[in-house]
Order: sequence, then C-alpha cells, then structure tokens
Amino acid sequence: MDTPTEVLHRVFGYDSFRAGQQEIIDHVVTGGDALVLMPTGGGKSLCYQIPALVRKGVGVVISPLIALMQDQVDALRALGVRAGFLNSTQSLDERQLVESEFLAGELDLLYLAPERLRVDATLRLLGRGDISVFAIDEAHCVAQWGHDFRPDYLELSRLRELWPDVPRIALTATATPSTHAEISSRLGLEQARHFVASFDRPNIHYRITSKSEPKRQLLEFLRTEHPDESGIVYCLSRSSVEKIAEFLTDNGIAAVPYHAGLDARTRAHHQSRFLREDGLIVVATIAFGMGIDKPDVRFVAHLDLPKSLEGYYQETGRAGRDGMPATAWMAYGLNDVVQHRRMAMEGDDAHRRRQVLHLDAMLALCETVGCRRMMLLDYFGQKGSQPCGNCDTCQTPPESWDGTVPAQKVLSTVLRLLRERRQKFGVGQVVDILLGKKTAKVLQHGHETLSVFGVGADLGNAEWHGVVRQLLAQGLLAVESDYGALVLTDDSAAVLRGQREVRLRRDAHRPARAKTASSAGGKSAQPAAELPAEAAAVFERLRSWRGATAKEQGVPAYVIFHDATLREIATQAPASLAELSNVNGVGENKLAKYGEQVLRTLHGDDAPPPSEEGEQTLL
Ligand code: ADP
Ligand code: ZN
Repeated sequence: MDTPTEVLHRVFGYDSFRAGQQEIIDHVVTGGDALVLMPTGGGKSLCYQIPALVRKGVGVVISPLIALMQDQVDALRALGVRAGFLNSTQSLDERQLVESEFLAGELDLLYLAPERLRVDATLRLLGRGDISVFAIDEAHCVAQWGHDFRPDYLELSRLRELWPDVPRIALTATATPSTHAEISSRLGLEQARHFVASFDRPNIHYRITSKSEPKRQLLEFLRTEHPDESGIVYCLSRSSVEKIAEFLTDNGIAAVPYHAGLDARTRAHHQSRFLREDGLIVVATIAFGMGIDKPDVRFVAHLDLPKSLEGYYQETGRAGRDGMPATAWMAYGLNDVVQHRRMAMEGDDAHRRRQVLHLDAMLALCETVGCRRMMLLDYFGQKGSQPCGNCDTCQTPPESWDGTVPAQKVLSTVLRLLRERRQKFGVGQVVDILLGKKTAKVLQHGHETLSVFGVGADLGNAEWHGVVRQLLAQGLLAVESDYGALVLTDDSAAVLRGQREVRLRRDAHRPARAKTASSAGGKSAQPAAELPAEAAAVFERLRSWRGATAKEQGVPAYVIFHDATLREIATQAPASLAELSNVNGVGENKLAKYGEQVLRTLHGDDAPPPSEEGEQTLL
C-alpha cells in the first residue's frame, strides 16, 4: 500500500503538501471523521482523493455541481485515477456501466449528486460495494440559513447510520462560525475532528479603486496587467453584463457574457469555453462561478459592489487557485453606495437589519485606510494578522484627512433644503449648491439664495462626490426613495454640532499597480508570473501545444498541465524524462502520456531525442 506522500508524488506529481492537507489526510486514512474549513483554492480535493486512493475500496464523493462532474472525472482520469460519476444527465447505459465498475471494485472514486441518495436503488448499490470514505463537498449546502441550501443534503445525515464504519469528511469554503456549527450538527460531525485552515490567500493582490469611468478603468487594468489572461468580471445586472462583454469584444479582448437570463445551452457553452480556452474572460452576474475550479483564473474584477464580504471573498477566491499571483480588482464609487443603501432598505425588518450589517462591513473594507487583507481575515474570525504588503493600501497607504468641515457643509445643505424648503435632493443638486453653480435646476428652485450656496468652492466636483460617498459609507448620511434623495441620520446631528470629528480617506488619482506576490514581502513562494524572454517564448510554445492537445482530447487545457507546471518546465528546460518527472505537477501518468511530446516541444523537432540514460534512470 502506498503512503499518502507517495500518492502525492506519483499520481499528482506534487512535491509537498499544502498547509493542513497532510494532517487531514492522515486522520481520514486512519478512519477518522473530519470537518474541513479551507478557503477556495486551498486544496480541499486532495484531502479526500488521497485517502480514497490509499484506503481499500471506493471513495464516494457527494457534490451538488452536476455540470462540473464530467470535468472533475476527466481531470482525475488524466492522472490515471479510476473515477466515475452518477447523475441525472446520464443515459441508462452510461449509468449501468459506472455501476458495474463500482461493484467490480474498478473505481477509486465515484462522484454522486446528492439527490441520488434519495433513490433506494442507489443506497442498495452502495450497500453492495466496498466504500473507503464518504466525502461531502460544498458541505455548507446543508445549512438552512446559508445562501446555497439544498434540501437533498439533509439526507446525508443517514450516511453515518448506514455506514458507521466508513469515515466521513465534509468540506466547505464557507467560514462563518454559524455555518460551521450548523454543518457540524446537521451532518452529525460533532465528534469528528474539525480542521479550520487559514483563510488567507496570500497570492491574491487586493485592490479597490475609486470609480470614475469604469469601462476605461477596466480596459486599462486588463491591458496593462492581464493581457491575454483568463478572468472573471462581475457586474450587478444582466444588462451591464451584456454591455461590458460587448465593450471588451469591441476592444479586441475575448469575452463572453454569463447570466441567468441566457438560455441554458448558451450558458453551458460559455462556461465550457471559459474552462477550455486560454485567456477568455467571462463577464457575469453572481450566477457564475460556484464550483468552477479552473486553477489559472488570473483576476477577478468587480465593476459593482458585492452585497457582502462573504460574497466578495467567495468571488475573489476564484482567482489564483494554482497559487500563482492573481488580482482581485474592484472599482467602487458613490453610485454603488447610493444603490446599495437603497436596496438594503427593502424587505422585512430582520432582512433589512441583516442587509445593513452586510453592507456596512463591505463599505468598511472599501473605505479603510488599513490593510485590506487584515480586515477580511478579521471578519472571518482570524484575528491578529499583520499588514500583508500585497494589497493596495499596504503598497500605497492612502492619506486620511480631517473632513469635519466639508462634512458639516454637506449635512447642513441637506438640512437647509429640508427645513427651509421642505425639499429632498440627490447628490448632484447638493454638490451643485455647494459649488455655487447656477444651473437651470438650481435657478428653477431658487437654491442660489440658500446661505450655503457656494460655500464649497474649495473642493472640486469629484472631491465632493468622494465626501458624500464616505458620509454614506459611514452612516452619517442616508439615501431615501428610488432617485436617491439624501437625508440625515441619527448620527448626523453630532457632526453638525461639532461634537464629532469625521476622518476621510483621500482618493488616489492613479490606482496603484499590482506587484507580483513574490515581491510582496515574501508572502508567497510562488514563481513570479513574469518570465525571462527566452523562457517566455518556450512557455508560449508549450501553451499552444497544450491548447491543441486539449482540443484534440476534448478536455480543459488545465487538465493536461497547469500554467504553473508549464512555467516550471519552460524555466528548467528538462533534458530528459527523468528530469521532467521532477517538475511539480508532472505525475507518473502524465509523464508517460505527454513526456515525449513536451520534450519535443521544448527542444524543437530538430533536437536530438531525449537521452537513453535519462529514460533508464526513470525506470
Ligand atoms: P479547493 O477545492 O479547496 O478550492 P482544489 O482542491 O481545487 O481547491 O485545489 C486548488 C488547486 O491547487 C488545484 O489546482 C490543485 O491541483 C492544486 N493543489 C492542491 N494541493 C496541492 C499541492 N499539495 N501542491 C500543489 N498543488 C496543489
Ligand atoms: Zn495589506
């Protein structure tokens, strides 16, 4: 029997375990139950795949992500792992084939949709086989109050009664303490060992920039930092998704839209293109992304504010699963705050309170002058971390300034409109009054006679918008009604009376450029994304070989080799199969399957074939 470390080397071709993996795997291999909380991209899959390969019998993986099962199974098969799945998309014949493989002990891993377990025939089938471990993926789906609740997951509590001797491992990337507790009790995992990994994603660079011309800003971000790279752009509405996808396409950037308004076939097609093609961008609403484990997503961009930090962290977590530098970029402005404050006022009381709490936390992240990562980790219960050196505020610390007087000017304008005129206006009019602009609308309402008219000539239009945005973010000002009329809050009075100081963040005019994670205070040991010219050319050759091979075999490119592996091959230029086998990500099966082709691509067709000696050391 192989040890977990041997399987890691031989099958997956990886040098070493990531933080937490070995402990979890050892525990499950020896028959223990486990509940694993690990961030997206942390490496959860190995935690059940290796025990399934080491223990006798078939590992059964419960996963709600039916649309991705085929890809997951393909990726495992490419590694030489005998994997199969059962779900509703299969024909009877296909199902029967998998069932007989399962019974014959010819599978290492069997993926199952949770609803299958409702069918008695499935339970009987499982009862006749030999099961090594049950893995419950996306375990937060059992939590009623979470946003991904699936009733079928409640059935999973039966696994323990039916198979008391088979270890169970439940995994999720959702970290809040309440979800954790709910998973534990609903799945009967109170006695299991709980593994809570660090939620830090050190290779992700976080940046939140103030929004002025979002399209141009996005284009500049993509062109200067991520040309020809895969990524996701999130927008709030279907129509903006369509518009941005078209805009990018018009500017020569390959992009496809994805939202719930598209028909299922188009959605599936766009998702599959994203997984299979190099350098494609998906512009999407939040309907896109769950379970997408494409490892080489190089950036996640938000053009609209997410509703909560949970959502933001989940979405940005889709970047850089391969551990290479990646960027979480967001453009955020006054309109986002107005719109979200308004949306947060919808629904019943309890819902409203929750929304407001979520939004306040999100806005605090946007407006902070401190390290963004520290704030995120703190929110997810990981206290006491240090400034990260790999976020915009660490790299270019924003100035804060005393904005008490400008705040008083804004608040008193709103107050005067209400007291003296019984009127409410949006930000545009309030700022025009402060600037002393005699616009048609100002004259029409006689606002040039207000005592505050023109008292704000010391700041410009953009700066006033920044002040109003931050007052809204801090809850010192509120919006009302559909057109975003500004109103005072309970906390406004203290500012107006001079009893409360207002600290504001000075908006940067030029966004800070991302640095690679390797230059970011040594937080990440990953190779830098930039390669020397010669290696870069080789990398591109390998990439196009990989693209062609993936196409031929009908699998995503990363199933052949990850970018990180290709980069390592390009820089190390292995001369033989034996040398190639030392590259991280080159396991036994892939070496046998692609080794020769890689060496040929690497050294060109005219180069001598790999030396005999090299091959012998391998054997
Ligand atoms: P999660 O399910 O936690 O989001 P995955 O299991 O998909 O994460 O792993 C993320 C990526 O990291 C995958 O591409 C996987 O192959 C890679 N990976 C996992 N463990 C290791 C390791 N020990 N060494 C190198 N790469 C790893
Ligand atoms: Zn930081």
